[in-house]
Amino acid sequence: MATLELDSITKTFQDGDEEIVAVDDVSLSIDDGEFLVVVGPSGCGKSTTLRMVAGLETITAGTLSIDDRVVNHVKSQNRDIAMVFQSYALYPHMSVRQNMSFGLEESTDLPDDEINRMVGETGEMLGISPLLDRKPSDLSGGQQQRVALGRAIVRDPEVFLMDEPLSNLDAKLRAEMRTELQRLQNDLGVTTVYVTHDQTEAMTMGDRIAILDGGELQQVATPLECYHEPSNRFVASFLGEPSMNFFDVTLEGDRLVGDVFEYPIDEGIRSDLGDATDLVLGIRPEAVQLVDAAGDHEFETTVDVVEPMGDENTVYLHFDPDVEPENASTLVATIDGFNRVSEDDTVIARIPPDAIHLFDRSTGEALHNRSMENAADQIDL
Ligand code: ATP
Repeated sequence: MATLELDSITKTFQDGDEEIVAVDDVSLSIDDGEFLVVVGPSGCGKSTTLRMVAGLETITAGTLSIDDRVVNHVKSQNRDIAMVFQSYALYPHMSVRQNMSFGLEESTDLPDDEINRMVGETGEMLGISPLLDRKPSDLSGGQQQRVALGRAIVRDPEVFLMDEPLSNLDAKLRAEMRTELQRLQNDLGVTTVYVTHDQTEAMTMGDRIAILDGGELQQVATPLECYHEPSNRFVASFLGEPSMNFFDVTLEGDRLVGDVFEYPIDEGIRSDLGDATDLVLGIRPEAVQLVDAAGDHEFETTVDVVEPMGDENTVYLHFDPDVEPENASTLVATIDGFNRVSEDDTVIARIPPDAIHLFDRSTGEALHNRSMENAADQIDL
């Protein structure tokens, strides 16, 4: 097992006259045995980062160390890592057993019966023992992905690198494999870097997540920290479905004044804002409450659309009934599935002061976040 250290790693590509900065000065320390998920939108530099760690891409600037050994110029095959990709990349003419043993035969002097034993054990661990003599073409997508995982596990590497390994699977299988991968990684304790654009995978699988945008690292923290205490507006909007609500507001005295509402804040929040006055107020849909009485933090709204999800309803509210819904400021609320509201109903929406986030409008930096402790306190355990 191993630690991984990315120190100011940058990768640029030359595209004709244009220089593309795919990864921009990224620093990350990944602990021994940690499961780190790298997440971000398409083109943010996730795969390039992983490929540099794998040794499949040169590093333009910065230092990459595995267990304190700088490996910038160490060949991929000498880094003791195993990769699993979105495309399973199994050899079609080989059986599952041969696919899994091939790497060991090539890279070690282990005797055949030892390799066979290791393949057998790994096959058992992954529940693919009955499939060992089949060809990849005779397997389902999920089974092929398991073989690809088995091929990585059997090599007993220091580090696993996984690039969107579940994205070819259907939703149900993906959810199953998500849990299985977590369990396996936990059991094996191998340091793992897992790349995905899927925020559910990021939230559920990682010990920590690293969020990239435009090649730049936005935040590295536990999933719950990133969710409740985002470092900036990008992270706040990237995590969470439906996304956080955002409203442009201006600080005037102890009030936040927006186009459609005024919102008083207390001294505690005010003191987090420094000199900033042009702000963005953020509130997560599940923090919005529908209540009976209007007040300082409660606003009369009209229901525009209700999306019933079964366990909960996503309700799109707008503030001004005289403005066409498509032009009105929308507030999205996630409410209990049994809480029936209908289109055109007038409802009072509460934006609880202890759940708001405030961002600097020009830099996007979070100036005030809801505290995780507060959020936890509100749950009746
Ligand atoms: P996706 O989720 O779509 O795979 P990603 O976050 O993994 O995206 P990368 O594949 O790392 O993103 O690409 C980051 C940026 O670098 C993109 O702008 C991409 O177009 C560019 N890029 C990647 N590889 C090359 C290359 N070989 N030559 C030129 N530009 C490249």
